[in-house]
This record gives sequence, C-alpha cells and structure tokens, in this order.
Amino acid sequence: MARIVMKFGGTSMAGIERIRNVAARVKREVEAGHQVAVVVSAMAGETDRLVGFCREASSLYDPQEYDVVVSAGEQITSGLLAITLQAMGVPARSWLGWQLPIHTDTAFAKARIGEIDTAALDQSLAAGVVAVIPGFQGVAEGNRVTTLGRGGSDTSAVAVAAAMKAERCDIYTDVDGVYTTDPRIVPRARKLSKVTYEEMLELASVGAKVLQTRSVGLAMKEQVRVRVLSSFDDARDEDGYRGTLIVGEEEIDDMERQLITGIAHDKNEAKITLTAVPDRPGAVGSIFAPLADAGINVDMIVQNIAHSTGSTDVTFTVPSADLARCLDVLEKANGDIGYAKMVHDTRVAKISVVGVGMRSHAGVASTMFQTLGARGINILAITTSEIKVSVLIEEDYTELAVRVLHTAYGLDAEAA
Ligand code: ADP
Ligand code: ASP
Ligand code: MG
Repeated sequence: MARIVMKFGGTSMAGIERIRNVAARVKREVEAGHQVAVVVSAMAGETDRLVGFCREASSLYDPQEYDVVVSAGEQITSGLLAITLQAMGVPARSWLGWQLPIHTDTAFAKARIGEIDTAALDQSLAAGVVAVIPGFQGVAEGNRVTTLGRGGSDTSAVAVAAAMKAERCDIYTDVDGVYTTDPRIVPRARKLSKVTYEEMLELASVGAKVLQTRSVGLAMKEQVRVRVLSSFDDARDEDGYRGTLIVGEEEIDDMERQLITGIAHDKNEAKITLTAVPDRPGAVGSIFAPLADAGINVDMIVQNIAHSTGSTDVTFTVPSADLARCLDVLEKANGDIGYAKMVHDTRVAKISVVGVGMRSHAGVASTMFQTLGARGINILAITTSEIKVSVLIEEDYTELAVRVLHTAYGLDAEAA
C-alpha cells in the first residue's frame, strides 16, 4: 500500500464524461490498495471566464474579491468528482482549501502555501475515503480565501504530497509528458523520459506551462517524486517510460544529457519603456521600488545608453496581468522618477532556451542570436542565467522562432 497524490488538470475535468474517466483512474489506484488524495483543477476555460468577469467589473479589481470569484471553478469540479466516485462505489469526499485547511500568506491572487493541516486528511485516508481537494485555493489569516496564481493546482498537488508524505505525485494532463518544447507548436518535439528539477524549474519559469514554476521549486525542496503523464492515453515510449519523471541531477547519466534540454515561450509579458529618465544615481531605484512595493515582478530590464542630454530610456517587462496596475503605479510615481513618456506594448513574446549543458559549453547564445537573425527576427531585450538564455521578440514571430531554434539545437525528433 502506498500513499499517492493524483492531480488532474482542466482539460481532464472538462465535463462529466471526462470526470468519469478521471474517477475510473482513481478507482484503479484505490483497488490496487493505495490511499489516494486527488487534486483537481477547474474545467478548462472556466478560470479564464471568471477572471474575465472580474476585469469587466473593474480593471483595478480588489485581489481579495478576485480570489473569491476565481477559486469557485475548483469548488465545482471537486464536488462533481466526489459525486462521480461515490456513484462508482468509491467512498470519497471533498475538502475545500479552508476546510483542511491549506494555510497561505496574504499575497492574494498569487498566495504561497505555508502549512497544510493533515489531521483530517490522515483520518479520511485511513478510513479508506478518497480525499478530493480543489487545487489553486487556500485560506489566509483573517479567514480570507486565497488563490495561488495561474496554474496553481500543480503546486497544491505537490504541497499536499509533501504534507502527507506521499510516495509520488502524478500530474495528469492533456499531453503525455514534458517535451523539448510545447508539442502544440512543434509537432516534432520529443518527449523527455526524465528531466532534472533544476531544468524543469527554469523551463517552467520561462513559460513551459505544463507545470507551475512554484510546484517544481517545492518538489525540489521537499524531494517529492513528480511524474507528468496523460489522463487520456496509457501508452509507454520506446524506452518503456510512461510520462516524464522529474528527478535529481544524479539520476540522469551523462550519455542521456543534451546540451539544450528544451525551449519555451511566453506571450504573457508586456514591455514598458520610460523615455528620457534623468541619468542620475537612484533614478532606476525610483522606478522599481514602487513596483516592488506593489508586488509586481519585473523580469527583463534594458537601460539604454544615456542621451547627450543627460537622460536615458529604460525598458522592462512585467506580467501582462499586472500591466494596468503597473502603469497606474508608475504614473503616480512620476513625481520622483521624472520620465518624459511611458509607452507599453503587449504584442511581445519571450523565447528561452534551457539546458544544464550550457554551464560547460560556449556558443549557445550566439547560435540563438544568429538563428533568429537569419530569419529576420529582431531581438528587443536579452537576459541570461547559468542554464538559460531568453530573448524578447515581436509576438507574431513566436511560433517561427521556437521552430527554427528547435531545429538549430538538434532537438527535432526523427520523422515518423
Ligand atoms: P492542465 O490543465 O492539465 O494543468 P496545462 O494547459 O496547464 O494543463 O499544461 C499542459 C499544456 O502545456 C500542454 O497542453 C502544452 O500545450 C503546454 N506545454 C508547454 N510547454 C510544454 C512542454 N515543454 N512539454 C509539454 N507540454 C507543454
Ligand atoms: N484553474 C486554475 C487556472 O486555470 C488553476 C489550475 O488549473 O492549475 O489557472
Ligand atoms: Mg496547468
């Protein structure tokens, strides 16, 4: 007997027929003698719909009320799965975030999980009752409902797995594993049978939305065994693996290691340029301090060469979801900053290549720049880390850029 966590994403939960398929998978694990906690997402498209209502109600919505609205999608699917399991003869009950409870901080709309009480969960599992837990939600001090940021059900699943000391955390989704790039953009992407925590963390953080970034960081810290696999297809690859296992670096031998592990893209950033910012010490601080105070994460930053007039242009990117608030904060802070104009552009995309092999090989960045240049794709900003290079380009070129880079780094699968 093992304790396992099974997490099902939005596509897997979209409609009663699919929820029946999920319930059948859960039933199989229960019949194999396992104690099972299931973490579920809202039906595909539902969270977008709820977010849309909030935006329509007010572009500067109160994040505390936003969380009340958007956490509702998971409440519905958790109840529906419990009903479906019961109808199949599997004892089950739902445990909402505030009922377990899953404690979080008060960063509404992107809360972090602190502690999870497992007393109720332990009791339920010991009694042979499947615990169905809505992903994405928790409860903060003051008894307010919180959500964990988009894609947050993955993090709920890993946190529950860590708290209940589960043997494994299976993330069921609509692809059969982690690929060298989004298989919906590059049909010749290859499935990876294993990927390291570190590379997965970097891939997720630059837009490979198959796992939420925080879920990978948490799995790495708590040493949770995470597997990504399909909820629709049980096939194994030619090496006998089902899905993709996220592992420590020591579990991948050198023979399997590639220079580049994967390529990701992210269309959810917006570019902001402040023109003619006074070129003096403290100027850049006066831009980014109020953004930090507002909880807005700045990603890429480019400060141009100073104009002869003693001023400079500063360009940076923020999550598109924070754009309205960011513009508001910077307008109010212009007394301190003193820029001439603020312009923004949401039609940009960030393309990133990731691989631990970069630590020991030169030339990864120049291959990227040359490959994009040869296609006439202009680079608007660049950032790098030890195992990643990212560039910002015009959004229209996203698919083309990912495809040509996938080929340039030798990642294409053999044609079938
Ligand atoms: P879920 O609703 O199950 O959480 P998501 O839509 O959040 O599913 O994540 C799965 C999607 O992630 C896939 O459908 C795929 O389009 C996308 N994706 C992006 N990058 C990758 C990658 N490197 N490997 C696999 N899937 C990826
Ligand atoms: N339903 C939430 C979202 O769409 C959380 C999740 O599915 O992981 O972002
Ligand atoms: Mg997801």
